Amino acid sequence: MKENRYIAERELDRQKEIAKALYAELVDRDLTFFVETFGCQMNVRDSETIKGELIEIGYSEAESKDEADLILFNTCCVRDHAEKRLMGNIGALKDLKDRKPGLIVGICGCMMQQEGMAKKLLKRFPHVSLIFGTNVLYRLPEMLQSVLNGERVAVTDRAEDAIAEGLPQMRDNPRSAFVNIMYGCDNFCSYCIVPYVRGRERSRSPKDIRDEIVSLTGSGITEITLLGQNVNSYGNDGAAGMTFAELLRYVSDVPGLKRLRFMSSHPKDLNEDVMQAIAQLPNVCHHVHLPVQSGNDEILKHMNRRYTRERYLSIIRRLRELVPDIEFTTDIIVGFPGETEEAFRDTMSLIDEVGFAAAFTFAYSPRQGTVAAKREDQIPEPVKKRRLRELNELQARKTVENNEKYIGFNGEVLVEGCDDRGDETMLYGKYQNFKMVYFPGDPDLLNRYVTVRVLKTNKNSLMGEMIDA
Ligand code: SAM
Ligand code: SF4
Repeated sequence: MKENRYIAERELDRQKEIAKALYAELVDRDLTFFVETFGCQMNVRDSETIKGELIEIGYSEAESKDEADLILFNTCCVRDHAEKRLMGNIGALKDLKDRKPGLIVGICGCMMQQEGMAKKLLKRFPHVSLIFGTNVLYRLPEMLQSVLNGERVAVTDRAEDAIAEGLPQMRDNPRSAFVNIMYGCDNFCSYCIVPYVRGRERSRSPKDIRDEIVSLTGSGITEITLLGQNVNSYGNDGAAGMTFAELLRYVSDVPGLKRLRFMSSHPKDLNEDVMQAIAQLPNVCHHVHLPVQSGNDEILKHMNRRYTRERYLSIIRRLRELVPDIEFTTDIIVGFPGETEEAFRDTMSLIDEVGFAAAFTFAYSPRQGTVAAKREDQIPEPVKKRRLRELNELQARKTVENNEKYIGFNGEVLVEGCDDRGDETMLYGKYQNFKMVYFPGDPDLLNRYVTVRVLKTNKNSLMGEMIDA
């Protein structure tokens, strides 16, 4: 029996019944949807569920917004420019709604969980009729039924921090899939809004995770990325009965699973057991996305990250000792309140010392309700911009350095796409340790594994030749 941290099966069945009734009513009307996703992999994964639900209700996917009968924006609110962008996007649909009165415009995702946001949007945009938060995706059939009956619906209940299993999904990618292992976050990094909008950390049961992976590999998917805001704290809520290292061992032998990835890792919880699992399990990929945020201990303390620069560097050293071909990527924030020039130099020196394969770099953006946003020692925008530019220049040099060590290397690549460049078709894909390589080849090789030798580097990318298909 499932405990009450799950949405009751009775309730899920009720939603299924509504979906069935809607399907019978709508299926002959050729209705289409367009879902636009902003933000991180969690949102991408949520959109797959939303699309699956809409298909179950009788919609199909439209090629563009102009053709769609239902347009839904799945929003992010990690940085503040997202809000301005969303307002622009919604405002721009007013004309389309005037021309197509039956059009349903909806907004969902993290931003909808922000205090007062739903109310503000409903007031400002009369053409928006559906708003829902991150934890009520399972209620989409019921919400849509009300909208189709002419109501305006906004469901952003925070009480619903529970897990809904078995929802439909439309997977876009035939080779690779995201699988949530947990939802929410308990870390409360002082700059971050995620714990406020996605709720408390809750882990899925190992069996549900494994069953989902079995079903995905059964449909031909060979690469799985386990998703969580901090995968290393999987099971800390006591409900899963397993740690993250144990989960890796538990799922890694699923037949057909060639590559097992995970993100994001929080340095404070990445322990020796996880490192050993990465080193020992043959299909766990040799890549860790390990956000450092800052290289300065004082700033790390104020960010509430709960590790020091030295602890971070010791993880890098230990993993390189255990797994020599491992690559690291990271997230960095510059211009956190109180960041002195000296503290920023510590971040620069850490970047120089580690040699990340890539870094996602951000200027600190105050988020209302977070601890850091209340601080008075905010850094002026021009200073943040200049630091971000310097940091990006340094990382660009480090990326080139990192690429150069691959010249002559050969290994297996999963082909992800192709690019027509004049008279040559270039395929691209990743080695297991996340390094991307471009090489000439036949588009029929898409989604297959081929062996590629690196011949040269081109600023950001590796260029190679296929030596075995
Ligand atoms: N849970 C992941 C972790 O801890 O690494 C990251 C989740 S967050 C959506 C992705 C990244 O956005 C963070 O690692 C951080 O670098 C950045 N970020 C979060 N809040 C931010 C803020 N207020 N301003 C600028 N960047 C921010
Ligand atoms: Fe945000 Fe920190 Fe949680 Fe990541 S670990 S989601 S940065 S609070």
